[in-house]
Amino acid sequence: MDRTLFTEEHDAFRKAFRQFVEREITPNQQRWRDQGQVDRDAWRKAGAQGFLCPWLEETYGGPGADFLCSVIVMEELARAYESGFAISLHSDIIVPYLHSFGSEDQKQRWLPGCASGEIVTALAMTEPGTGSDLAAIATTAVRDGDDYVLNGAKTFISNGQLCDLVIVAAKTDPDPANAHRGISLFVVEANRPGFTRGKRLHKMGMASQDTSEMFFEDCRVPAANRLGVEGAGFMMLMQKLQQERLCVAIGAVAGAEQVVEDTIAYTKERKAFGKPISKFQNTQFKLVECVAKLEVGRAYIDKVIAEHVAGKHLVKECSIAKFWTTDMAQEVIDTCLQFFGGYGYMLEYPVTRAFMDARVQRIYAGTNEIMKVIVAKQLGL
Ligand SMILES: Cc1cc2nc3c(=O)[nH]c(=O)nc-3n(C[C@H](O)[C@H](O)[C@H](O)COP(=O)(O)OP(=O)(O)OC[C@H]3O[C@@H](n4cnc5c(N)ncnc54)[C@H](O)[C@@H]3O)c2cc1C
Repeated sequence: MDRTLFTEEHDAFRKAFRQFVEREITPNQQRWRDQGQVDRDAWRKAGAQGFLCPWLEETYGGPGADFLCSVIVMEELARAYESGFAISLHSDIIVPYLHSFGSEDQKQRWLPGCASGEIVTALAMTEPGTGSDLAAIATTAVRDGDDYVLNGAKTFISNGQLCDLVIVAAKTDPDPANAHRGISLFVVEANRPGFTRGKRLHKMGMASQDTSEMFFEDCRVPAANRLGVEGAGFMMLMQKLQQERLCVAIGAVAGAEQVVEDTIAYTKERKAFGKPISKFQNTQFKLVECVAKLEVGRAYIDKVIAEHVAGKHLVKECSIAKFWTTDMAQEVIDTCLQFFGGYGYMLEYPVTRAFMDARVQRIYAGTNEIMKVIVAKQLGL
């Protein structure tokens, strides 16, 4: 089916970004996976060409395009099997906090660097003791004159090694009775005394992503770095998590589409018992089922994208999109991997990496179980 989301300008943007991927990403992917992170310079190159925060207004140093350009970036990265270059996390999940909740002064300070790639961002919510239950975080921020003093540990933080700026969720009111209203968000520059990066974590997939621990030990942050009013952190996070969930779904569908395309090509080439494996009825039926799931998923996700771009606040739909597409993508990629036989178990095969990369999509950005908790609430259950 034809997609109706994009204009000719978007098509031109996709072409330009695809060229950027071919030139600056594909030749480096194996090295990035080996070193466990992308080159810092790749961020600057992406920024210089307008591929970071494409929706950001020119007044703040952005290219002044729209979220659909971000969708294109996510889709093309997924199609290139690049799971570690967290452009979308930066552009579409973290920078929007600064844009929506930052004061004019904060926006002028940070947004131009976010668009140029001089500033790489991270968002630190999860802690060793809690992830899904955000209200239970133990990191504290205690007011001391014009500063707050942060203490605590975070883990699983994407862009943990490369980030220059971290938005940290911390308790400004430790009273458990105020669990939700006791969280505030702080923008912490990575060169502040008291902030240290922990280990880069070894993961099942996303080999080029520098997911890390972080520590805050008497880390002094000026009150001018607090985002929004004290105690509004949970509300701000809840407001912005819809787009985060949608971004995961967009990557899941695009990644699985690429895997199916590559699998169809492989099954036409690979022979067994004297004929291409694509000629076995089992192959055909399984691949048809994959394509059917993807076409139905594509129709839903494009509708959610269109309504999200139109400004609707889609709590139920973004949650459904996140859990349904990521479960579906995992099933589809697993089915495809089987057609590669033993090669589907070899790391040099993209389908193998796609299988490992896809697993986390059901865990992060709120687990798929938490998505169902949210939808159940929306249904009044
Ligand atoms: C590669 C990677 C990158 C990440 N990047 C970031 C990042 O940049 N920033 C950040 O802050 N975090 C990040 N995370 C953390 C991620 O968001 C959490 O791992 C996730 O939210 C789950 O939290 P948890 O690991 O503590 O699991 P837990 O919350 O301990 O959950 C364990 C299990 O219990 C289930 N469960 C929990 N509560 C319920 C419930 N009410 N009903 C039913 N089931 C429930 C969960 O679904 C899960 O299956 C990342 C994680 C990974 C793996």
